[in-house]
Amino acid sequence: MTIAVYPGAFDPITNGHLDIAIRAAKLFDKIIIGVYDTPAKDILFTTEERLDLVRQAIADLPNIEATCFSGLAVDFVKEAGAQAIVRGLRVGADFEREFEMALMNKKLSPDCELVCLMTNLKYQFLSSSLLKEVASLGGQIDSLVPRAVAVALKKKVRRKV
Ligand code: ADP
Repeated sequence: MTIAVYPGAFDPITNGHLDIAIRAAKLFDKIIIGVYDTPAKDILFTTEERLDLVRQAIADLPNIEATCFSGLAVDFVKEAGAQAIVRGLRVGADFEREFEMALMNKKLSPDCELVCLMTNLKYQFLSSSLLKEVASLGGQIDSLVPRAVAVALKKKVRRKV
């Protein structure tokens, strides 16, 4: 059985993330979305909230599941019995970061392969951080995220104001 882990902060999951997971699910028997418990950046949603939003977004997708993890992604890959890491590549900065991380991961775990999928053109400009900024300023985000995320994000930013 071919299994890949798709790790990330998912703060919150967007249609861009979802598009990558759905496309990767056609290449592997199973995709496990790994929600980082302690990302090295400012986080709006708790780990439980981020995981819950991911799970709602993938509810109808039979070979995609989600769980949270802490520590190294390569260790999580091993624990999950997976062979690969999936990441999405947006134009520009993502490449440098993914390349650097891939080389480090290869050093840490030589058997783990990285599969990068190019972001769908319509989601190239979409990042969770920009999304949160737009939502906090009252911008329309409904077409960029799953429905449950739009509701949760509006509620969360209202509470923060
Ligand atoms: P991280 O903090 O690890 O970058 P993110 O949640 O920001 O976690 O992203 C997880 C993965 O999803 C990364 O590979 C990132 O490049 C990818 N990604 C982020 N936004 C998009 C998007 N709009 N379209 C496709 N992939 C994306």
